[in-house]
Amino acid sequence: MNIVIFGPPGAGKGTQSKFIVKKYNLYQLSTGDLLRNEIKNNSELGTKISSIINSGGLVSDEIVGNLIEKFVSSYEYKNKIIFDGYPRTLIQAKNLNNLLKNYGQKIDVVLKLTVGLETIKKRISERQIQENRSDDSEDIAIKRFQTYDQTTKPVLEYYKKQKLIKEVNGEQKIEEINKEIGDIIDLIEG
Ligand code: AMP
Repeated sequence: MNIVIFGPPGAGKGTQSKFIVKKYNLYQLSTGDLLRNEIKNNSELGTKISSIINSGGLVSDEIVGNLIEKFVSSYEYKNKIIFDGYPRTLIQAKNLNNLLKNYGQKIDVVLKLTVGLETIKKRISERQIQENRSDDSEDIAIKRFQTYDQTTKPVLEYYKKQKLIKEVNGEQKIEEINKEIGDIIDLIEG
């Protein structure tokens, strides 16, 4: 099963992905983590993207597309991926569809975590203390939320047409969200 976990920054995508990975033996593919790794390793790509990430914008579709291809094409990950933070644009969603098709795969469900801006601000300020992420200051968090709001709507429409979206209330306690997501996946797995 391949899953897309979808939602604004601070919605709990990473936390919930880790739960799903453990319970269902999947791999978490977080483009944000892959990009942060490039920055940490001071790679050529890392230097190129750090200012984009730190201003709350989006890295190009081509760059993130290249990053995920390695995983989708690998036998080890076949039908075992949870896409965390990808796709974020309509082009990325279409690219992902084509890429999966080329490797005889598809997306089985899109889990959409819904959270309001006030909760996001609170969670991101807590995360800043725990993880010290350079893009977790309040003003950049708001910018990232706006980026999400502007660029991701077409992605949702795209998946809505394919009837893949399952909405989950991301304002609930972590365990409650875990439970709701688990129920959705169990139903799909049958
Ligand atoms: P995340 O950890 O998913 O919140 O991502 C952190 C930052 O990495 C985002 O604010 C973007 O700047 C960049 N990023 C992550 N995933 C993508 C993506 N699919 N497309 C473009 N930029 C991305």
